[in-house]
Amino acid sequence: MQTFKIWWNEYVLDLVETALPQFLASSEATSYLSEVIFQGSTLDLHCHDAQRQFAIHKKMESEKLLKDETSALIDSFPEPRKRCLQRKIDFQCSGWLSVIPVAGNHFDMSPNEFRDAIAIGYGRIPIDLPTHCDADGEVFSVNHALNCSKGGLVYGRHNELRDLNCSLLELAGLKQVISEPIVHETADKQLRADWAARGFWEPQKQALFDCCIVNPECSSLQHTLLQASFNQRKNKKIATYSKAAKARLASFTPILATCDAVFEKDAELYVKRLSAILSKKWKSTYSKTVGFIRARLQICILRSVSLCLRGCRTKWRGAGAEDAAAIPSTDKE
Ligand SMILES: [Zn+2]
Repeated sequence: MQTFKIWWNEYVLDLVETALPQFLASSEATSYLSEVIFQGSTLDLHCHDAQRQFAIHKKMESEKLLKDETSALIDSFPEPRKRCLQRKIDFQCSGWLSVIPVAGNHFDMSPNEFRDAIAIGYGRIPIDLPTHCDADGEVFSVNHALNCSKGGLVYGRHNELRDLNCSLLELAGLKQVISEPIVHETADKQLRADWAARGFWEPQKQALFDCCIVNPECSSLQHTLLQASFNQRKNKKIATYSKAAKARLASFTPILATCDAVFEKDAELYVKRLSAILSKKWKSTYSKTVGFIRARLQICILRSVSLCLRGCRTKWRGAGAEDAAAIPSTDKE
């Protein structure tokens, strides 16, 4: 028999294999209701509810079986891939896969961007990577690509997220949206956050944000739980910014995400708040807006991660033809 497997919430679902049992479970749940409608008899709500609860209980049992099978499948993979897959279950960060890829919403990823995002998300090595880094000659592993700061691609990844957030906050109609606001300044030093907006958490109060995109598979973090890695970075940012932000009567929120677009809890709260403001402004439902915003931010991260894998880290030099002196002579002497 043909199989057609999809990743459904917390487990892998074989649509062909489970279609009949699911149809039977659904028929069973509504069997009493159908009987009442066919016979035109009086509906006893208690009977209907009991029938429904029985079917729900059976569904939960079969879901538990599927979850156990999925856990066993994940356990069979080697360690890095196992962690990647487990993150997809624990944090449910695949919302971007369910949006329609239209250019108007910037959801139209290039073939390479899409393939890289899938590969990174499932702990596989993206195809057609160079063997060595063009900037420093090191072996070009995925970890090297995501961490090598040469050529500005890693900074670009961070800046893309900052710029997208500034533009979304402007779309939300918030005032004083500032990129890189100076939080504290001395004669020789400046402390800058990534972006700020007035009235985000509280009316009239300036809210400061600083973001960080973490590679959870880098050698220093691969043996640490993701939440612990997030906490470590979050505490560092809070220690750096909170006092200075408080002195300026502003709030501070660290925005952390991973290279496979998992958002930390505070970042999730930020996404929800931004979506609530935008849904009012756009007169759209909250659930639709939050799905859009989450996918937009996820695709922004995945695109810039793909650029770290495929972008050039060295500068191009022009031939320098500034005047006629550079033109090779063709005159026969
Ligand atoms: Zn490098």
